[in-house]
Amino acid sequence: MGRDEYERRMVRAGRAAAEAGLIVTPGPDLVWLCGYRPTAVTERLTALVIEPGRAPRLLVPVLERPDAERAAGAGALTVAGWTDGADPYVELGKWLAPQGRYGVSDGMWALHLLGLQRSVPGGGYAALTEVLPMLRAVKDAYEVERLAAAGAAADAAYQDVLGVRFAGRRECDVAGDLARLLTEHGHSQVDFTVVGSGPNGANPHHEAGERVIQDGDMVVLDFGGLKDGYGSDISRTVHVGEPGAEERTVHEVVREAQQAAFEAVRPGIACQDVDRVARRVIKSAGYGEYFIHRTGHGIGVTTHEPPYLVEGEHLPLVPGMCFSIEPGIYLPGRFGVRIEDIVVCTESGGRRLNVTGRALAVVA
Ligand code: ZN
Ligand code: ZN
Ligand code: ZN
Repeated sequence: MGRDEYERRMVRAGRAAAEAGLIVTPGPDLVWLCGYRPTAVTERLTALVIEPGRAPRLLVPVLERPDAERAAGAGALTVAGWTDGADPYVELGKWLAPQGRYGVSDGMWALHLLGLQRSVPGGGYAALTEVLPMLRAVKDAYEVERLAAAGAAADAAYQDVLGVRFAGRRECDVAGDLARLLTEHGHSQVDFTVVGSGPNGANPHHEAGERVIQDGDMVVLDFGGLKDGYGSDISRTVHVGEPGAEERTVHEVVREAQQAAFEAVRPGIACQDVDRVARRVIKSAGYGEYFIHRTGHGIGVTTHEPPYLVEGEHLPLVPGMCFSIEPGIYLPGRFGVRIEDIVVCTESGGRRLNVTGRALAVVA
């Protein structure tokens, strides 16, 4: 992506914030604003300062300055280095107005904020929660295509994993297969590889453990990471051998709930109403108490970010928002089912960025 697009984003962010300036430390906000993702986030201060009427400035440890200049330099952004032994908060403080009020990114460590409060005692600081993540929530065409490519890679990994052996192997072995497949399909980073077999599938937060997968198990697969800087996140539930009647029924209810929520996606609908559509299908099938999490979350330069499709979220969808739709049913001590696709809201409704089949697949 061109430097001019990053410059536009920095200008938009500066205008959107109520505060006079913005201070952004490493994390998704920094990546989105200027393209810089430090190889390691450490106690050494890195901070981007955006103020109206002047060029944005990035302060980095001097040893990381060449990396930062390569990733984010040139154009309007200037990069300055601070040297070990100096006080980086004093250095950053020289850039700030003594009585200025600054918005800070959610990911800023307390270490850094407290250091700033010490070096600029007259300054004021406020969270940018309602500004930066909401700007990031609406993707442009370039970002949607990056997310579509990440989704296609996750789809391909799922198709491949249907061919591996499940029965007799541990969950963590299948999780290893998923990580390898995501990497083979172009992911630079694997964030999670959930393999929840049998009763473990009933715990939505189960990752993958030592349990040996049995013939007759339902297995929840939920995996994703980053490809070319943008996220993937897909869930499918498979069955080892021929499924039983209740397993088929529960899977079909989740598939219908996911489809109904997808069909509800359109500009203007409140996030909570998409959640309600999925919940209504599951409730009317008698499994309402077993759908124990929100319907979805946004995705972009991270795999979890606003908007959240959850009761109480009145935010209306707008074209360009990308999010998961991932209803589930979790029967304690027995099994779980979750089906998840990434969806983008377009002018004419939803577009799935995961298009691999959602029918209950049988594995060996
Ligand atoms: Zn079974
Ligand atoms: Zn997921
Ligand atoms: Zn998800």
